[in-house]
Amino acid sequence: MTNTWKNFKSVDKTVFGAGSFNQLDDILAAKRPTPEAPMIFLVDNYFKDKPLAQRVPAHAHDMLLFVDVDDHEPTTEQVDQLRDHILQTKGLPAGVIGIGGGSVMDIAKAVALMLTNEGSSTKYQGLNLIQKPGVYHVGVPTISGTGAEVSMTAVLTGPEKKLGLKCDWTVFDQIVLDPELIADVPRNQWFYTGMDTYIHCVESMNGHYKNTFSEAYGYKSIDLCQDVYLRDGFGQTPINNEKLMVASYMGGLSLTYSEVGVCHALSYGLSFVFGTRHCIANCIIFPHLGDYYPQGVEEFNQMVAKNNIHIPQNLAKDWTDAQIEQMIDVTWALKHMWNHAIGLDWEQKLKREDIRAIYEKM
Ligand code: NAD
Ligand code: ZN
Repeated sequence: MTNTWKNFKSVDKTVFGAGSFNQLDDILAAKRPTPEAPMIFLVDNYFKDKPLAQRVPAHAHDMLLFVDVDDHEPTTEQVDQLRDHILQTKGLPAGVIGIGGGSVMDIAKAVALMLTNEGSSTKYQGLNLIQKPGVYHVGVPTISGTGAEVSMTAVLTGPEKKLGLKCDWTVFDQIVLDPELIADVPRNQWFYTGMDTYIHCVESMNGHYKNTFSEAYGYKSIDLCQDVYLRDGFGQTPINNEKLMVASYMGGLSLTYSEVGVCHALSYGLSFVFGTRHCIANCIIFPHLGDYYPQGVEEFNQMVAKNNIHIPQNLAKDWTDAQIEQMIDVTWALKHMWNHAIGLDWEQKLKREDIRAIYEKM
């Protein structure tokens, strides 16, 4: 289909293992040009009154900001405000460390880039629009599944579109994968975000851009998800937290070297129009995609039942025609996903009514 193979950028350094968060201070020490050079810690607000907040290795001249991601997914406005606040208070810092789920990790990636690129982040939503490398940045996931820890994009919602700042410089310089940090994620959230990785793999492995590289990571990631959500010993146990963390990492690499598909295309529409969060949006949509991913949907449904998870249903009855049309517009514009899922001639094969019919089942 294409002879131009991706030349993707990976995370430079990775530490993995229970308790590895304790190594963060030493890791950062090596990256401070002077002992006083400030590091900026962006920490999910959830941890404000939790023991982890006391373990963040912030020195006196560093800055620790708690970031609220409860009301909405990361926005361009939020990133611009954080950047302005940091520059006004500390000048250009030595680094940015994002400690949280996909939302906080994406905010950290975006802030690291926007500290050195002028103007609003809305200018840079797209591929390779960033002009200069950002500052050193570290990702510390506290929920696993989005693959944001390894991906080349920082997804932001702006006034006009939900689209990532995507380039080589977006990728973290360092990630710290400590499975103990995901131990207390509430059950539904644990499932929704974990299923993001499962769906990444099902989609990356079913389409025109699939290849041996993405399949190798995809098969292993799905195997790990089956341990976490389906096989004997399933559930939120220490060993499964390790497995889910690795599954998320591998799922991210699987999709990096292929592409996501139908669920993600529809999910962007749902998130843009209703603000539905990415992972739960995927879980709302995926059960209705049996025509595209029969085996994946069947297994997904088994996982939902086994873990007794609530998936919202009967939503479409409250949607107006204009809202559905707007979702179809957003979905239709994601050409790279349709090229992968259906083929370069997808516009001959797919009709807007087909997408509408799926939305109307939700
Ligand atoms: P999230 O970061 O949006 O957090 C969800 C909720 O969980 C929040 O209320 C948060 O405060 C809370 N939380 C975080 N850690 C917790 C913990 N350890 N225990 C209890 N609660 C905790 O969740 P997510 O699903 O990881 O991320 C979704 C975001 O990731 C979306 O904004 C989406 O756009 C983005 N995303 C990015 C990529 C990428 O490649 N960059 C890929 C997929 C999704
Ligand atoms: Zn996803």
